[in-house]
Amino acid sequence: GVSVPDVRSWIDRFAELVHAERDRLTELDAAVGDADHGSNLDRGMKAAAAAAGELGDAAPGELLKKVGMTLVSTVGGASGPLYGTLFLRMGASLGEATDVDGPAFAAALRAGLVGVAARGKAEVGDKTLLDALTPAVDELDAVLAEGASLSEALGRASTAADAGRDATEPLVARKGRASYLGERSAGHQDPGATSVALLVAAAAQTL
Ligand code: ADP
Ligand code: MG
Ligand code: MG
Repeated sequence: GVSVPDVRSWIDRFAELVHAERDRLTELDAAVGDADHGSNLDRGMKAAAAAAGELGDAAPGELLKKVGMTLVSTVGGASGPLYGTLFLRMGASLGEATDVDGPAFAAALRAGLVGVAARGKAEVGDKTLLDALTPAVDELDAVLAEGASLSEALGRASTAADAGRDATEPLVARKGRASYLGERSAGHQDPGATSVALLVAAAAQTL
């Protein structure tokens, strides 16, 4: 099952990966947006990891809610509310449960995905972070249904997220700042899909 220390490790690892990839994320956003995705998420995840660390004996869901609230309050723009919604909805799905098994974790991630899609009014193919998150959540469910462990299923989900991220490159953006470029947004990988692939990789490494 997924314990509170596991969730903290996931959040810490994601914060580390975002920090290590900050310049790359900003470079991708410079091509199709306003060159702040790396700095936005690095600032937000640093604050979120610190807040999660200070929370004491909370349940996994409470920890994830704290992460979501911290992201909403420290990251502006599109990605703050979207990542914030992902973690807040995950937290709400888990509630105060202390015993979080693979299917409960997958259901929480699905609830997060549904929340992000509703909030951003985006669909798969719009060249957003949903293009990495959706195939990852679908793969997680499919592999768990085969009877695999959460760790194995997250490994496969991470591969699916990477493929979804790569597939954003030829797409024309239909949501967010990149959509202002119209056809000129094609030929660049989406920054948000790139950071979501890091989120899923961090989960596969820690859960
Ligand atoms: P901003 O565009 O406000 O500067 P960021 O640069 O931090 O915010 O994040 C940009 C990323 O947010 C995009 O690469 C895209 O993946 C994601 N994004 C933008 N709008 C939406 C949306 N409506 N739905 C889902 N994801 C979105
Ligand atoms: Mg930006
Ligand atoms: Mg911005």
